[in-house]
Amino acid sequence: MRNVVLLGSTGSIGTQTLDVIATRRDQFTVVGLSASGSNVELLARQIVEFAPQVVALARASKARELQEALYAAARARGWDAGEYRLPKLLLGPEASTELAGMACDVVVNAITGAAGLQPTLAALAAGTTLALANKESLVIGGRLVTEAARPGQIVAVDSEHSAFAQALRGGRRDEVRRLILTASGGPFRGRSRDELRDVTLEQAMAHPTWAMGRVITINSSTLVNKGLELLEAALLYDVDLDDIVVTVHPQSIVHSMVEFVDGSTLAQASPPDMRLPIGLALTWPSRLEDAAAPCDWSQPAQWTFEPLDADTFPAVELARRAGKAGGTAPAVFNAANEACVDAFCDGRLGFLEITDTIAACLDEHLAAGHVPDGELTVEAVLAADRWGRARAAELSGAAG
Ligand code: NDP
Repeated sequence: MRNVVLLGSTGSIGTQTLDVIATRRDQFTVVGLSASGSNVELLARQIVEFAPQVVALARASKARELQEALYAAARARGWDAGEYRLPKLLLGPEASTELAGMACDVVVNAITGAAGLQPTLAALAAGTTLALANKESLVIGGRLVTEAARPGQIVAVDSEHSAFAQALRGGRRDEVRRLILTASGGPFRGRSRDELRDVTLEQAMAHPTWAMGRVITINSSTLVNKGLELLEAALLYDVDLDDIVVTVHPQSIVHSMVEFVDGSTLAQASPPDMRLPIGLALTWPSRLEDAAAPCDWSQPAQWTFEPLDADTFPAVELARRAGKAGGTAPAVFNAANEACVDAFCDGRLGFLEITDTIAACLDEHLAAGHVPDGELTVEAVLAADRWGRARAAELSGAAG
């Protein structure tokens, strides 16, 4: 039996993690859940269903609403006779961090954005296995996160990084030459830069192969997500940024590949379904039986690969630049992006201006204020995060 703490339980990864667990109650117990507070009804239903000991809610002002939703969810199950045990409630911006430090076997960090950093560090400090969906915490924390982790303590949930972990089992570390990171190309694959000038939020949200949360969906349309994944791969598997190449694979069946020194390439393939990498992260290094459907070889299929159009989608090279600079540069890359995604979603920023603004913020930060790897602290990362957000908001005309 594995005791699981799930951070970001009401999101896309969070709900799919609970899907995986729901049919395997003999293998997993949910001991903690957390969310920000946007959907207290869903959180309440999850609490009633999985009966965690502790629940963390980032927006303390939502506590009363959650309690009411909880009573309603319990009543809907016919549990109004008092046999329902309320979980301990942690409130406020630090609540998920406190929960991440709770004794358990695995913490799944499925929070979105830079808010995942402190919970990631708390889970690592507690010595718990960290199933990491929140790539942003690894990317912005960089060496602070990798050095806080013992070997194997971080297990990737991202399908690409799960693919790397699986393919890396096919050879020795000194036999690895390159990592091949696959990208679906997003909804705007094949378009020129000019054709992207007026794309709408609705078009950007229409991802061709994956249904995901808002930020990662927009990040997939700009390819910023692939940039974050590039940095994530370099940190997780200690591979030089120049030894990771991106290839566009629109079918999202091959989740990534490892090339070895003899010219052999190992690929991991499965239909796009996050329950497979989530299941593997929950039980790593073992596999979870029937986590997802395999490829169907009775049907004709075509898997295609094409080079990334880096002129139209500069985000991957921008991320590589931030990663090479190291220190606080990735935090600025990510923070500027998060602010730009908000501005784009609110109609304050055009699509192409997202990466233009990130580039401008990165340039300014590298010219003044950059803290290098050797001097990196959590405070410096958080300061760079605040600066990147504020500067990007200013540049996108949104400063108050
Ligand atoms: P969603 O936006 O769907 O969900 C985010 C979750 O985080 C929600 O439960 C939200 O709560 C919670 N949350 C947000 N801020 C806080 C906070 N400050 N404290 C506690 N909880 C918070 O995101 P996704 O599930 O799509 O993505 C989550 C992470 O997983 C991201 O880092 C993403 O890049 C990564 N990922 C996602 C994939 C996917 O298929 N979706 C694939 C691979 C990686 P509330 O609902 O209350 O706002």
